Formats: sequence, C-alpha cells, structure tokens
Amino acid sequence: MKDYKINTKCIHSGYRAESGQPQVPPLVQNTTYRYYNTEDVAKLFDLESTDFMYSRLGSPTPGYLEEKMADLEGGTAAIATSSGQSANLITMLNLCHSGDHILAASSIYGGTYNLFAVTLKKMGIETTFFDQDLPMDEILALAQERTKVIFAESLGNPALTVLDFDKFSKISQSLGVPLVVDNTLASPVLCRPLDLGAHIVTHSTTKYADGHATCVGGMVIEGGTFDWTQNDKFPGMVTPDESYHGIVYNEKFGNMAFCVKLRAQMLRDLGCAMSPMNAFLTFQGLETLHLRMERHSENAMKVAQYLEQHPRVDWVSYPGLKGNPYYDLAQKYLPKGKSGVLSFGVKGGKEAGQKLLSHLELSSIVVHVGDIRTSVLHPASTTHRQLSEEAQLAGGIKPELIRLSVGIEDVEDIIEDFDQALAKL
Ligand code: PLP
Repeated sequence: MKDYKINTKCIHSGYRAESGQPQVPPLVQNTTYRYYNTEDVAKLFDLESTDFMYSRLGSPTPGYLEEKMADLEGGTAAIATSSGQSANLITMLNLCHSGDHILAASSIYGGTYNLFAVTLKKMGIETTFFDQDLPMDEILALAQERTKVIFAESLGNPALTVLDFDKFSKISQSLGVPLVVDNTLASPVLCRPLDLGAHIVTHSTTKYADGHATCVGGMVIEGGTFDWTQNDKFPGMVTPDESYHGIVYNEKFGNMAFCVKLRAQMLRDLGCAMSPMNAFLTFQGLETLHLRMERHSENAMKVAQYLEQHPRVDWVSYPGLKGNPYYDLAQKYLPKGKSGVLSFGVKGGKEAGQKLLSHLELSSIVVHVGDIRTSVLHPASTTHRQLSEEAQLAGGIKPELIRLSVGIEDVEDIIEDFDQALAKL
C-alpha cells in the first residue's frame, strides 16, 4: 500500500477489500486450518510457509491488526498478544535468558515494574531500575556484561515522564543492545519511537488503541533496524534453533527475525495470543485513533489549565503545561499533542482527594486510562492501598494524587463536573 499519512493509515492500513469482499475485516472465529496433504502441513512446522496452522500461533483477524499496527508504528512486523503485560513479558523473554540483565526506567507502569522486579527476577533475569533523567554516563555506568536490553515508556504511566529519545538511543548504541519503548500512552499518532531510535515498540492495546474499554490486548512491533550480529549477546537470533530444525532467525528472516522468533517460540510455548474477537474490536478502535488522540490531547490541555488555576487544587502534572519539567521534551517528541492523562492533587490530602471523586457525576472511578469516557482514580486508596505511605511516596504516589484520564466528551461538561465537585470540598 502507498505510504499514506498517519490519519489515512488509521483507517485503511491492515485490510483493503478486493472487489466483492467485505469492506470491514472479517471476524474469523476459528482455531485451526484445513490442508490437503501432510507436505503442506510439514512446511508450516519448518517455517517454510507463512500460512495459518493453529490460532495460538496467529490467525487472520489478529493478522489484520498486526499489519495495521506495524504500519502505524513504521515497523517491519508485529505480533498481537493477549495483554500489554504479555507483550512486555515475551519481548523480554525473546531477548533475555536466566543470568541476563535489563536496564529499565523506574517511572514505568507499576504492572511492568512488578513483572521485571519480581516475576522475571524469579526466573533469573535481574533488572536495574534508574531515574530516566540521569545523565547518560550515569545510566551507562549501571550496565553489566550481560545487559541485553534498555526499556522505557515514551510517556510514563502515571508519572507522565517524557522519554529523551536522543539520549536513550545513544545509550542503546553504546551498549549494543536494543531500545524497547512501551508507546501505550502516546500511541503512534502522537509519537513514533521507531523513527526516534527505538528498535522494538510495545503496547497495551487495552488503552488508546482500543479506546472504548472493550478488550484487553497487547502488541509488539519490530523496527527491523537492530544488527543482531554486532556482538555475541543474542545467540538466539544468530545461532540455530534446534526446535525448528536448525533455523537461524537472523539469516532466514532478516528485518523480521525478532517477530518470527517471537511467534515461533513465545506464542508457541507461552500461548499468549490475542483472541480474534478482541482483534476485531481493537481494529475498529484504531480506525478513529487519530481523531481520538487529537481530542483527548486538546481536552486534557484545557482541563489541566482549568485545574492549575483553581484555588482548591495544589498542583497539576501534565507535560503540556509550561513550567512542567518535561515541557521541552514534550514539545520536541510529542508535537501533535501530549495525550489525555494527567495527575493532580487537591489541598487537604488523601481525604480531600477521595471526597472529590465521590462528588464527580460525569467522570467515572475506574482502574483504566485511555477510554473515550473521562476516568479517574485515587491510587493511594485503591491500586496502591496495600503499600505503606512511605512506599507509596517512593513510587511517586502522593496521598492526594488523582490520576485523570480525560475523555472526549465536550470539555465544558468535563470541566463543569470538576467545578461542581471541587466546590463541595
Ligand atoms: N504498559 C502500560 C504503559 C500500561 O499502562 C499498561 C496497563 O495499564 C500495561 C503496559 C499493561 O497492559 P495490560 O493491562 O493490557 O496487560
């Protein structure tokens, strides 16, 4: 397909009907595929054919979604997964073995932090977390001989840190390891990490990609630019895979080698494929992503400005606000909009924060971001309630912090909702 602009890609990439075919990509709800002879089935098992075999390894409807996401991110290939968690899990397992080491920004989403710090650690993979704003030489000093990957989020959830791509891409080059960027909160409409030095992009498609709070899902997109032969850190990419009769992924699949290995080994063994129904709905969500991200960003900016001047509001964190520590980086890397998530604190601490939420009428209290509906959460009394106040503060969760995911309702109605709730404090 012609290289259209991103707005057109949101609508048309991934599926194009031929004459007489359905205009919307079909939902193929199916587990297995018929063949006429065993030779053709054998070719599937030897990775000689890219046809479908069994839906754990891929199926038509997730396939359309993979193509669309690969095109939106400017990648060579993509793999749809059952959740954002599984996208990050299998990306790490495709790069690291027991004894290996990950460098990760400490402001990443709490679920990913836990995955790295607790679950991967039990599997023998250690992570060093670091403040992503440290100078380059201090981050480089944290690397170990078996460091295999550097991981960060383009826009941190919920810390709203903005990644300094120039710095991170230099660190990745200097260490000879891929830069993996979780682009969930920004989406490819606002930021394309592969154009900025990242090698692999991950997503929780549960958030803005779906956008309507209907499907949990994830995606891994390969940029096709990492040279797996530059050092001896990635034997899995450059030496024979005995479970596929000695195939060498890098030699056979070139700039799609990472994704072929991911499908052939990780989807095969861990079984975290996306369901056809979720792919069907997420595909439809992506068709309006460009419009939604524009409106989410516009609305969030107006709500942030409103909150900033309100006498009952103590502080507001949104990278689009002048004076925010990430303002300059956001202007550089998120020029089209700063997405829809912000956080703020009201005067009066935790109780005042909780009380405010109970007075909201239009906005909903939900454990989610990126929905078309305005969503709020008070982490100290919900997602982080098991932690002591000291531990919450160490994770950047102040007692009064409210995470607000601004929806695409009329912004005047959203502001009015906060206005009436703040007046009751
Ligand atoms: N990455 C980011 C940035 C997230 O915000 C989330 C979920 O909130 C995840 C990954 C995990 O995604 P999922 O909930 O789809 O497993």
